[in-house]
Amino acid sequence: MRNPTAADAVSELAELVLPWLPPPDLAAAASASRAMRAAASAVTARRAADSARGLEAFPAPFVNPIDSQPYSYFIYTPFSLIPSAASFHAQPWGCAWSRTPGPTWPRPDLGLPLAGCSCARGECGGAACACADAEAEAADASGAGMASLSECGDGCACGPSCENRRTQRGVTVRLRVLRQLKKGWALHAAEVIHRGQFVCEYAGEFLTTEEARRRHRLYDELASVGKLSPALLVIREHLPSGRVCMRVNIDATKVGNVARFINHSCDGGNLRPILVRSSGSLLPRLCLFAARDIVDGEELAFSYGDAKPNPKGLPCFCESSCCPGVLPAEET
Ligand SMILES: [Zn+2]
Ligand SMILES: [Zn+2]
Ligand SMILES: [Zn+2]
Repeated sequence: MRNPTAADAVSELAELVLPWLPPPDLAAAASASRAMRAAASAVTARRAADSARGLEAFPAPFVNPIDSQPYSYFIYTPFSLIPSAASFHAQPWGCAWSRTPGPTWPRPDLGLPLAGCSCARGECGGAACACADAEAEAADASGAGMASLSECGDGCACGPSCENRRTQRGVTVRLRVLRQLKKGWALHAAEVIHRGQFVCEYAGEFLTTEEARRRHRLYDELASVGKLSPALLVIREHLPSGRVCMRVNIDATKVGNVARFINHSCDGGNLRPILVRSSGSLLPRLCLFAARDIVDGEELAFSYGDAKPNPKGLPCFCESSCCPGVLPAEET
């Protein structure tokens, strides 16, 4: 066995430190020495190989035939969360050591007294289950606002393998993030996805309306000079009367999952958004299901909302026949 050299010490240190760095700092570190440059390019390659950084069942690689950008930098969370002082500002990405794949369980507690069902094993979702939602399909059929679903949650007696938790296991379909000429990054299916299948949650930070307004103004400014692609969604849940009853703001701009790469389509695209409530959780999660059969390689898209197109908004490249040419913009 040879003696460890100074270069070995550098690359060992680099392994610990470099995965924590955002791209500009990574580039700066890479310029320090040849050993650092080699370590940084290994980190870059591992980041490009999996946008989900080992936190989902399958890697979702970046594929860029357009330009030299190897990946898009953000903080990954498999599930929406409430930003707090403890919210990450940094997360290792591109480590040589690998994590156990699959979503973290249990999910971060949303801080409510736990309510739930006490079904016997395998009986959840049936007529006797307190978490089964008889109204979900009715609300959907009436076309009043966004459809919703109820699932078992942290207060239920059943465990993670319960049938009534199909959106809680993270992303279980194969996906890739493809760079396109006009749209930038876009999420594509990397396998056949069947109609009705759960694809992914639109994960991000749950914001108060006040904070959403503040960030909207900031993002508009940055987006207008091309410095940012905002991914802040405002979902309004309507009562049958048509009056707004609840507003959910999810910001995936800095913290999110693969869904932050899904582009808007004015015709609704191939994904159907559904608000999913888990027993014991205050906030519904926005989940995306296949609206029809999706072929391997197809781009995934959904409608960001029914807001009127903003004449001063960002251009829309969805190419559907009803597209007004600009993205819808929420009045916040
Ligand atoms: Zn259950
Ligand atoms: Zn149950
Ligand atoms: Zn339950």
